[in-house]
Amino acid sequence: MDKRGLPRGICVRIGVIGGGTIGMVSAYYLSKNGHEVTVFEAKDSTGGLASSFRLGNGRFIERFYHYYSPGDTRFLNLVGELDLTCELEWRNVRQAMFIEKKLHSSTGLLDVLSLPGLSIFDKFRFLASMYFLLKKDEWEPLDRISCKDWITSNAGRNVYERLWKHLFETKFDRYADETPVSWLWSRSLRLAKSRKNVLGRETYGYFRDSSKVLFDRLETNIVSRNGKILLNTRVENIISGKGKTKIVAGSGREYEFDRVLATVPMPEIRRIAPDVFGQLSGKLRNREYDAVKMLVVELKERFSEYFILNICDTDVPFPAIIEFSNLKPKEEINNRNMIYIPNYMPLSSGLYSMNADELLSHYMPHLKKMKKGFDADQIADHYVFNDDFVEPYPFLGYCDHIPEFAEPVNGVYLANMSQVHPWINILEHGISYAERLAAWTCPAA
Ligand SMILES: Cc1cc2nc3c(=O)[nH]c(=O)nc-3n(C[C@H](O)[C@H](O)[C@H](O)COP(=O)(O)OP(=O)(O)OC[C@H]3O[C@@H](n4cnc5c(N)ncnc54)[C@H](O)[C@@H]3O)c2cc1C
Repeated sequence: MDKRGLPRGICVRIGVIGGGTIGMVSAYYLSKNGHEVTVFEAKDSTGGLASSFRLGNGRFIERFYHYYSPGDTRFLNLVGELDLTCELEWRNVRQAMFIEKKLHSSTGLLDVLSLPGLSIFDKFRFLASMYFLLKKDEWEPLDRISCKDWITSNAGRNVYERLWKHLFETKFDRYADETPVSWLWSRSLRLAKSRKNVLGRETYGYFRDSSKVLFDRLETNIVSRNGKILLNTRVENIISGKGKTKIVAGSGREYEFDRVLATVPMPEIRRIAPDVFGQLSGKLRNREYDAVKMLVVELKERFSEYFILNICDTDVPFPAIIEFSNLKPKEEINNRNMIYIPNYMPLSSGLYSMNADELLSHYMPHLKKMKKGFDADQIADHYVFNDDFVEPYPFLGYCDHIPEFAEPVNGVYLANMSQVHPWINILEHGISYAERLAAWTCPAA
């Protein structure tokens, strides 16, 4: 036994619920540590939010765009360890803002100086505020101030209204004013690590055959060490017993484990393990999750020269357009220009129930404002993808409510993205969390 009472040198049977990033990476490290792992995944493939779909040309692409930063060190270490470095491609990209009904490059410092609707004083304050935010090395004080208050007092109301308001309102809906500035700090740090200097473009990486290659390789590794991946197997219940914990799958079949890692979102924890859920702080227990709705459009022509187009005009009903073919060339996709239009909302939103045609019609007048002459003839195909639970809407003082994974409740270790705060929801942070989780719950056998 080690000092935490965990067995050393013994192979432990572990059930991992959820085959997303946290589940698959934890399972990979646990099986590497010599344990016997079974992953339960409700869908027909692993990958969760980072899973892919097959295009007409047979190649895969992510349902929700996925790109990686040179600063994603844990991600790059894992990719190297799995011998997948050669599957990643890197390119320099450009960003823009849609502001006052026009696209304006916002790639480097000089571009920011020519943004409309802001005085030279506003621009200086905007840049200075971002510089000072990035210099902060303690995030907990930032967890207690809202983005709105922090930006307004450091960069001015005009900067908040023109550059940020729409992003917060489309991303965090009615909770926009409660979003702590620790979120912006974490997001800006990642952006800064993608740039060689403030004048330059960002560099991002992507998997030539989508992030599916990462999950396929994790599967192969887990299975080669006698692990099991049970697809189409939704967990319905977790029953704790003396020393052992049972997982009940949708078929009614029961599986017994020494330890269970539940990596699914909190609303799913409430459903399958109400006793574990009941131990959470009230603030996290009652916090609503945001859902994501993604419209993916295959275009015959390029939409713009920008990879990321942030929307600042508040009459547009979505926060950004990601033109993925400005990172991953169209020859590698479907010979089409691929744009992703993300949107985040509570599950109850009317927009969430729209199908692909309805969503496209809803967005079309706004796409026409952004590209002169844009019309339906330029669209080759379109798809919509949803996920009910991305993450809980952040709130002030979130840091005081993060549940530990260290101590299991009734044999169940809870580990999902809601515990990764203040780090933004990306693979890098899921992987780093999963590594620690595996090392803590079951050290090497
Ligand atoms: C629009 C969008 C864009 C993104 N872009 C990027 C990006 O560019 N770069 C980046 O690094 N990250 C990006 N991310 C974030 C990244 O996808 C997530 O950080 C990561 O996938 C989260 O993994 P997870 O394991 O926490 O959760 P999930 O991926 O949600 O995995 C949970 C899994 O549990 C399964 N499950 C749920 N309930 C049950 C049950 N009862 N029984 C069995 N299985 C169950 C689900 O099917 C799912 O597979 C993006 C996310 C979104 C939404």
